[in-house]
Amino acid sequence: MTLEKSRASLAEPRASLAGLSQSPASKLYHLFWEAVDWVFPPLCGGCQAVGERWCNSCRDSAIPLDGPICQHCGALLREGSLCADCQKSPPAYASLRSCYVFDGALRSALHRLKYSRDIGLGEALAQPLAALLAQLDWPVDLVTSVPLGKTRLAERGYNQSTLLARPLALAHRLPYSSRCLKRTRDTASQVTLTAAERRTNVQGAFWADPALVKGKSILVVDDITTTGSTIQACALALDQAGAKACYGLTVARANYVSLAA
Ligand SMILES: [Zn+2]
Ligand SMILES: [Zn+2]
Repeated sequence: MTLEKSRASLAEPRASLAGLSQSPASKLYHLFWEAVDWVFPPLCGGCQAVGERWCNSCRDSAIPLDGPICQHCGALLREGSLCADCQKSPPAYASLRSCYVFDGALRSALHRLKYSRDIGLGEALAQPLAALLAQLDWPVDLVTSVPLGKTRLAERGYNQSTLLARPLALAHRLPYSSRCLKRTRDTASQVTLTAAERRTNVQGAFWADPALVKGKSILVVDDITTTGSTIQACALALDQAGAKACYGLTVARANYVSLAA
């Protein structure tokens, strides 16, 4: 796929979702948020302009991640279909993909999603996720989100990844469960950690419920990925619980380095 085509399909999520047979519940959910926004005009999560939760200008400024990319972890490649790391040691997940580079207005929007419980913004940012999933040939049986630890959930009161995963599941008529994965311990914020520290930080931090995931292909949704270590830890837990496969989808990827530069 060319950069232009990819940019167009992700930048115009509603147009690119036209071919996707969305559920009546998903359409109703859209209408609900449009009605709410009409009565109480929201602020854009990216630029704070009044009127839309994720305005056209911010949407157009988001940089899509485009190939060639590693078929497993989604890292950019100069050539081929697998990166050196995945050739050496394939990850426990089948595939990890992200919509955009974690930068600019999108960075502000994801910060707002994480700390301001903007459910409507989650619905808006789930649209490019749904468009990307529609382009992928993933046999997903069940959608879930990366769970927060007890302490963080109590502090924040909600899980930002759930605000993305629920409308994504609705758009694709897929079942959603927040109970497939549990975080067995609170982990430190990954923001300042190196790749090796990130792996250690989340190693063994998740447990998956065999009753919900056994024999199923699970799609795990998160807001941001940097090294894929969180999705990897989730995939190991899902594997242990007998899941058939684990796929990861995030709105943004933080360790993007342009190989074209
Ligand atoms: Zn904006
Ligand atoms: Zn890779």
